Amino acid sequence: MSHAASAASLSVLDAEIAECFACPRLVEWREDVARVKRAAFRDQVYWGRPIPGFGNEDAEIGILGLAPAAHGGNRTGRLFTGDRSGDVLFAALHRAGLANQALSVSLDDGLALRNTRIFPAVRCAPPDNKPTPEERDTCAPWFHRELSLIRPTLKVVVALGAFAWGAWWPAMSAVYGVKAPVPRPKFGHGAQVSLPGVPELLGCFHVSQQNTFTGRLTPDMLDAVFDRAKRLAGLA
Ligand code: SF4
Repeated sequence: MSHAASAASLSVLDAEIAECFACPRLVEWREDVARVKRAAFRDQVYWGRPIPGFGNEDAEIGILGLAPAAHGGNRTGRLFTGDRSGDVLFAALHRAGLANQALSVSLDDGLALRNTRIFPAVRCAPPDNKPTPEERDTCAPWFHRELSLIRPTLKVVVALGAFAWGAWWPAMSAVYGVKAPVPRPKFGHGAQVSLPGVPELLGCFHVSQQNTFTGRLTPDMLDAVFDRAKRLAGLA
């Protein structure tokens, strides 16, 4: 199906995203995972659909991730919810005053963000957390539409990992009409790109277990990124 995203509001966009079946491999994977389940979640009904953004409609800070986790967002229906990467991310947002609580386990856990919206570059859980370039490009219009809807307030984008960093440039071009610098700025933790007329871009290592369990990404490093994001957004 074509999904030239044109929703007039975030709630309409969220509903449209949840009905997307554009990528055959990802549709099969998200549904297989939802059917087979992980033993610990055997009794739960998995969401098994694309995941909309989460957070404030008038956010100053955007957090751009890669894609939902198979047994996290793909299970609970909300990004970074119900897995260890979310435990780390929402704890950091809570310390930064950008979330009302650190707990993030299900849609009805009471979690609410402040000044912040989280969205993924790809909306369906991919095998091995690796979408193909074609899947990335097929899903991009959803991200671009979401970006255009929060553009009036958005001041800073935190890209979690190199994939999100790479997804930013075509989004910036599509939504803000600003071409990426050549050569493109390299991703790194703490990297910052300031271009006129577009939100500040901050690089942050992804909150994956691979990074947080090994100490490559520590709570202090996350705190420093969100402190900087708040200052750049005029919130601190
Ligand atoms: S990854 Fe994006 S474009 Fe592909 S099926 Fe999921 S929501 Fe649709």
